[in-house]
Amino acid sequence: MSDAPITFGSDLSVPKASSQASMIDPFGRAVTYLRVSVTDRCDFRCVYCMAEDMTFLPKREVLSLEELDRLCTAFIEKGVRKLRLTGGEPLVRKNIMSLIRSLGRHLDSGVLDELTITTNGSQLGRLAGELYDCGVRRINVSVDTLDHDKFKAITRWGDLAKVLGGIKAAKDAGLKVKINAVALKGVNEHEIVPMMEWAHGNGHDLTLIETMPLGEIDENRTDQYLPLSLVRGRLAEKFTLEDIPYKTGGPARYVEVKETGGRLGFITPMTHNFCESCNRVRVTCTGQLYMCLGQDDMADLRAPLRASEGNELLYDAIDEAIGRKPKGHDFVIDRRTKQPAVSRHMSVTGG
Ligand code: SAM
Ligand code: SF4
Repeated sequence: MSDAPITFGSDLSVPKASSQASMIDPFGRAVTYLRVSVTDRCDFRCVYCMAEDMTFLPKREVLSLEELDRLCTAFIEKGVRKLRLTGGEPLVRKNIMSLIRSLGRHLDSGVLDELTITTNGSQLGRLAGELYDCGVRRINVSVDTLDHDKFKAITRWGDLAKVLGGIKAAKDAGLKVKINAVALKGVNEHEIVPMMEWAHGNGHDLTLIETMPLGEIDENRTDQYLPLSLVRGRLAEKFTLEDIPYKTGGPARYVEVKETGGRLGFITPMTHNFCESCNRVRVTCTGQLYMCLGQDDMADLRAPLRASEGNELLYDAIDEAIGRKPKGHDFVIDRRTKQPAVSRHMSVTGG
């Protein structure tokens, strides 16, 4: 893997090819949203995401920043309008800002509507201003609790004060911050109201996420799983939740909370399947294209990417893969299902 910075202004334009048709899957869904995991590594070890002792991909298997740029650009040529960099922790990859800056050219030319990231916030203190400068306008930051000790217990290696400082830096830089929190039974279950009040009080949307059975972790997922239908029911006893059509291109369904004036999103892969409106695919840092977060089927894009300088082979591989995008996922969490639904961790395909 090369982490050599991309020299801005280098010619990374993609030659036009005949197979640049937009991506429509067998169920008529247009794929317009790409999430790219730029690294599987991370400076945290969240209990629901990773085991403490993780084996990461060998660096030689990981795409270089230039290859990632070429791959993202090919997807943009094929109709992607929204691009999210994730991981692992995207901001810990060496020279990642050179990739973000380079991809920003697609915002300038108008072929891309949004370039964004999902981050744990640990590096925002130093990078928020530069992100804004590269054209990023909205980011997702994951915060599961506002209690410093609990934060340490959940993330194992994280420091809440640093993350909160990073969120403030992002806001000051002009970035719109959405807070993502995984709902964890018995952990942050009774903190959701104060978290919502904190987020809305600071002008951030809050999105709650159900834990998904991805990868072996050190704990039992049944013990962590908190259905958001239950959380919503409890919140509705205290707050007026009004369904709103607000969409950010992702799977969250939003309500407006009358009392706080803020937006609250629910990502409910377990209790409410959202696959019918799925518009996205995911690429790992080794160039594997996953057509569904909840299925093992994937297509290798690294080989066609490296096989020639032109993009014909790559476009063909993408078309072939989109042609088998499945209808939906098979997630189940119950006491009888001991194995995770898919064996790879969330940090491989990214959130
Ligand atoms: N490191 C960055 C972060 O934490 O925001 C980006 C990658 S992380 C894998 C993306 C999102 O996935 C985070 O919001 C995290 O909380 C969530 N996540 C990780 N494992 C999950 C799981 N098993 N179920 C549901 N969400 C998960
Ligand atoms: Fe790292 Fe994000 Fe996974 Fe936490 S959720 S271990 S911050 S990749």
